[in-house]
Amino acid sequence: MSEPTIFERIVSGDIPARVVYETDTVLAFLDANPLAPGHTLVVPKEAHRRLRDLPDDVAADVWAAVDELAPRVEDAVDADGLTVGVNDGEAAGQEVPHVHVHLVPRFEGDGGGP
Ligand code: 5GP
Repeated sequence: MSEPTIFERIVSGDIPARVVYETDTVLAFLDANPLAPGHTLVVPKEAHRRLRDLPDDVAADVWAAVDELAPRVEDAVDADGLTVGVNDGEAAGQEVPHVHVHLVPRFEGDGGGP
């Protein structure tokens, strides 16, 4: 069996994270190296590497969580918008091989963005 990813270890409670949201199937926590204050990661509790690997019900739960959390994250840090994104595959910059959705708060004039 392959080693558990860092996100599996966060889901299992093996390593700590600042959890901001949890359901039976989804966990959201603050990114350890935030691109902006409030940078949040939304992950399925089941370990899947790519979006294409997610069973439909798990994908639906992840996107429902994103939908619910997005305005909360934006408002919590008084941001002006959010960049919502998935690095899906190594070539896309995915470093942790466990599906995760980035919610990155954005501020007028911050000059970032994809
Ligand atoms: P990726 O490049 O795979 O899309 O993004 C992985 C993200 O996971 C990065 O933004 C990185 O800062 C974050 N990250 C990596 N290791 C940890 C960790 O141990 N805890 C938390 N909370 N975030 C992590």
